[in-house]
Amino acid sequence: MNLKMDEKTFLDVSIIRCPNCGKIYAETSWYVLELESDIECGVCHEIFNGAESLIERLMLTFELDEVGKVREVKVTDRVEKKP
Ligand SMILES: [Zn+2]
Repeated sequence: MNLKMDEKTFLDVSIIRCPNCGKIYAETSWYVLELESDIECGVCHEIFNGAESLIERLMLTFELDEVGKVREVKVTDRVEKKP
């Protein structure tokens, strides 16, 4: 199977902040916003809701080489935080 040189793949990411200690995490938006999963902070062990602690949502684009390995990662879209 041959991949094209300009093959790309995408990841929808949410940047969230622990409301207790302020530690910032990147998680998949699917996990944070669609499942609305509770997240345990690795620093202070507070359990919080990622959707309520959203800073911003980003679309990352991974530019791939001919065997599918990542050459470069770019932020290609920013979704405003919901009010
Ligand atoms: Zn914390």
